[in-house]
Amino acid sequence: MPLTANNPNRKTWLDTPSNTDFPIQNIPFGVFLTRDDIITIGTRIGDFAIDLGALHQLGYFNGIDLTDDIFLQDTLNDFISDGKKTWRLVRNRISDIFLEGNPELRDNAEHRKQVLFTIHEIEMQLPVQVGDYTDFYASKEHATNVGSLFRDPENALLPNWLRIPIGYHGRSSSIIPSGTPIRRPVGQTKPGDDGVPGFGPSKLLDFELEMAFITTDTNDLGKRVSVEEAEDYIFGLVQFNDWSARDIQAWEYVPLGPFLGKNFASTISPWIVTLDALEHFRAEGPKQDPEPLPYLQQSEKKNFDIKLQVAIKPENSEETVIANSNFKYMYWSMSQQLAHHTVNGCNVVSGDMMGSGTISGPTKAEYGSMLELTWRGQNPVKLNDGTERKFINDNDTVVMRAHCEKNGLRIGFGECSGKVLPAVSFE
Ligand code: CA
Repeated sequence: MPLTANNPNRKTWLDTPSNTDFPIQNIPFGVFLTRDDIITIGTRIGDFAIDLGALHQLGYFNGIDLTDDIFLQDTLNDFISDGKKTWRLVRNRISDIFLEGNPELRDNAEHRKQVLFTIHEIEMQLPVQVGDYTDFYASKEHATNVGSLFRDPENALLPNWLRIPIGYHGRSSSIIPSGTPIRRPVGQTKPGDDGVPGFGPSKLLDFELEMAFITTDTNDLGKRVSVEEAEDYIFGLVQFNDWSARDIQAWEYVPLGPFLGKNFASTISPWIVTLDALEHFRAEGPKQDPEPLPYLQQSEKKNFDIKLQVAIKPENSEETVIANSNFKYMYWSMSQQLAHHTVNGCNVVSGDMMGSGTISGPTKAEYGSMLELTWRGQNPVKLNDGTERKFINDNDTVVMRAHCEKNGLRIGFGECSGKVLPAVSFE
């Protein structure tokens, strides 16, 4: 099916800012609360949120095989279950409705009033009910840096890393939409000389600059997905801040891996940008050496050129951009991750979320965590207000942004931000 919505020459009759993350070629999907306090599935063009439930009730999706209530839900899980053909028909139709020269909705004031909201009138919700969340560890630079800091610089990369897309099962209940504040976690830390573990608010609170992809129903239990089919099952992507407490992590992670140092919060950007919308931005991934086993070998470009940025905004002060990275640095592609996830017959379902792992680039300015940027606090980062950070302070807001840009076409993800509130007192 042609992706007519991707045509870079298309323009919309809506009034949109020139440098928006959400041109008519994006058409992401999300869930929001309207000005009338009704929850609905929607999309966004420029600074307008568009109520897909209302559009459907008014007949704008006639001819597409959709249940009556498919957009009148508080998650996208059922729509995502409908599969790629339906996603494409709907995305193409939305593009047609808002295409310059199409008077159908443009000239119907009554319909426009029911369908269109400004972005300031709505409140974004979690777009999917995340049944299961898996986090990978797919950036070679990040794995090498963390291996050096936590273990042994001489053997930073363990022998399995170049063979397996390493991952672990995370916690889905604490995935929250951008704008939701988080509490500094409390926990145990490594014992000092007296052999007794420390206990209290984390002193080494960090972010992890990641992307995450959201799947449809992929495989029945016992079946698997091939690397070449994998993209058919990927609905889209969000930005992902996998908040991490490094001091809690360092004490607890042996031998079973991350637990309370990671599962207290993960922040996502609320609009899911479809994999289809990223088609123009395919990129080569890093060369894989040694050659992966056959079930992980891929033929085409499966990486995507998505520019990533992270900034710290102290309370009552301007923000400072502290790192820029790129999703194309991922050593293991999303397709390889999904093929690996299912190779043992593990079933993946609609709304599952797969984090990429921290995406660090080859240079210091491209590191995707404070752990790496400050080399565990040895080289603090200077902010524009004159203060320094080794890790994240109370009342700091961490802001992540992501966008693709090529030949004048920009597709972005908006913002993924979260403010750190002080730890809950135990008095
Ligand atoms: Ca992570």
